[in-house]
Amino acid sequence: MNPAHAFQTLNEEIVACTRCPRLRDWCETVASQKRRSFQEDDYWGSPVPNFGDPLALGLVVGLAPAAHGGNRTGRMFTGDRSGDWLYQALYDAGLANQPTSLERQDGLELRGVAVTAVCHCAPPENKPAPGEVVNCREHLERTIALRPYRAFLCLGSLAWKETLGCLGMKKSEQFGHGRQVADPKGRLVVASYHPSQQNTFTGRLTRAMLLDAVRAFASALG
Ligand code: SF4
Repeated sequence: MNPAHAFQTLNEEIVACTRCPRLRDWCETVASQKRRSFQEDDYWGSPVPNFGDPLALGLVVGLAPAAHGGNRTGRMFTGDRSGDWLYQALYDAGLANQPTSLERQDGLELRGVAVTAVCHCAPPENKPAPGEVVNCREHLERTIALRPYRAFLCLGSLAWKETLGCLGMKKSEQFGHGRQVADPKGRLVVASYHPSQQNTFTGRLTRAMLLDAVRAFASALG
């Protein structure tokens, strides 16, 4: 199967997944009730597929779509403040053709990278239950198996832990912003604080810190 077909086939399976009843109910409820400022939008409401370059050599791993971000727009980190930060940094590092990510048809293209998440459905309070993380792990494993990735950028401690686990490394490896480790195949794994509003509003994560982590990740892509 060629890479584009394999990428698409996995995405179709992700979008059709119903393994987590709590998350499916929540996403559909949010999609039908909507936020007042998005009343005119046709919410996606389904699991959010992987996004990016099917020939990617780098993989960005987030936590999960936001209720009124990815769950609304149907694209990872699209239509919310976290996405504003992530795609600006990817653009600044030369990995995206534009710094903004507003909706699926906005022309955004990634260069050599793809974006995935630990859970493909938005969880209440942005917190998936442990069993839901386990349910979605197969998607992360299969996403990682799609390509001969040279580097991973993990946004947040759960993405770090899950990615290390999928790469056959110790999940107990300490998480910290800017931390870098190599997997048994020599692939780089970079940790960053998640660009959630909780981190960006408080100054725990600055744009410069995020860009440093993205640049470290980009440097391994060749
Ligand atoms: S979180 Fe993952 S495993 Fe659970 S329903 Fe969504 S796509 Fe399926």
